[in-house]
Amino acid sequence: MSPVPIVRFAPSPTGRIHIGNARTALLNWLYVRRRGGRFVLRFDDTDVGRSKAEYAASIEQDLAWLGVEPDDVRRQSERMAIYDAAAEKLKSAGRLYPAYETPEELDRRRKVQQALGRPPVYDRAALRLTDAERAALEAQGRKPHWRFRLDPGTVRWDDLARGESHVDCGSLSDPVLRREDGTFLYTLPSVVDDIEFGVTDVIRGEDHVTNTAVQIQLFEALGGVVPRFGHHNLLTDASGEGLSKRTGALSIASLREKGVEPLAVAALAVLVGSAEAVRPVASLDELAALVEIRHLSHGAARFDEAELDALSARTLHAMPYAAVASRLAALGIAGADAEAIWLALRGNVAKLSDVADWLPVIAGEIAPVVEDRAYLAQAAAALPEGDWDQTTWSAWTKTLKAATGRKGRELFHPLRLALTGRESGPELAALLPLIGRARALARLSAPSS
Ligand code: GLU
Repeated sequence: MSPVPIVRFAPSPTGRIHIGNARTALLNWLYVRRRGGRFVLRFDDTDVGRSKAEYAASIEQDLAWLGVEPDDVRRQSERMAIYDAAAEKLKSAGRLYPAYETPEELDRRRKVQQALGRPPVYDRAALRLTDAERAALEAQGRKPHWRFRLDPGTVRWDDLARGESHVDCGSLSDPVLRREDGTFLYTLPSVVDDIEFGVTDVIRGEDHVTNTAVQIQLFEALGGVVPRFGHHNLLTDASGEGLSKRTGALSIASLREKGVEPLAVAALAVLVGSAEAVRPVASLDELAALVEIRHLSHGAARFDEAELDALSARTLHAMPYAAVASRLAALGIAGADAEAIWLALRGNVAKLSDVADWLPVIAGEIAPVVEDRAYLAQAAAALPEGDWDQTTWSAWTKTLKAATGRKGRELFHPLRLALTGRESGPELAALLPLIGRARALARLSAPSS
């Protein structure tokens, strides 16, 4: 097996990805980020009716927004001939057989089995058909679907997340790999691709545990190297409901449009239901160092949008200017003061776009709140001359304290109300040099409100 891990994220482009899909993508991405290796984005688009190019494009866009950059992008719809060849190989090995039952017939049989207290496992009647019976069915116009003949034994693997795992294949129905119309279900193409792309580690949700047993048998039947498997716990929404691509709930696109920070989405997507506390991170590398697939918990993990909003705000509060410079420029905050503006405001925003609310305080028109005319006149007269910096506020208020005997809220609050027009906000030490002397003077001298 290759010493360098190769992983893949394999969404079917039938909708927008949600936070649960992002968890899978990120666990794969962080796994190779930590170890070196390759990340393949594979679109499972064999279902031509439901797969759409625009969904594939939006998935790439959503991943890019999260910081996930695939080393390679592949599409199953371009590889049908390869899956045909694999199906032929299985057929000649006696592992893929035609079955002719209609869904109604299968349903009826399942009901009988259940009534008899037997597990509803496909009875392999199709394997017992003679050539003549098959020909007769085909003469009636019936087309076969194709089932993989499972070995009845127990399949075992050492799961990256769950440890020793096993599935008794004797209790499973032979899975259908190909439908009547010749299209493939997900099971076989996935294995064919994993073999051909040299995938070493298959990291996916625990809803795939049973598939893994079947697929391990397929890897072996096709003569491929069986990869390591890791099944992570699934996310539910805050009420415990599973997430669905179809409803669009908690889609990455909706979170982006809401102004949530991508790093916060990434952090919560993988830290919730892990051994690590949910916390803001400064980079995906920092996150990669925190997350170990073996340490994920085994129960469902609840994803709470309110927790995400709070984490997003905390992520912004610690964010260095370099990380947001281009986004600030797009909001019109650029130039010599841009970094100081960001550092002054970042602790007071829940979303990056909230900085716009504070710009008038720094460089625009506000309505100063004047509570104590005489005190403000005194403060205006005491405004320091010369260049202002972060120390100006303390020098100025020290002088005022000495001159007036005021302290605490009495000393500071009227200044805040006059200078910003608001009850609370960013540190005045950081704001004052940005407001500048002329504007400060004008606000302190504003007529009573
Ligand atoms: N297309 C499958 C899914 O989205 C991929 C599962 C896998 O990773 O093998 O569930």
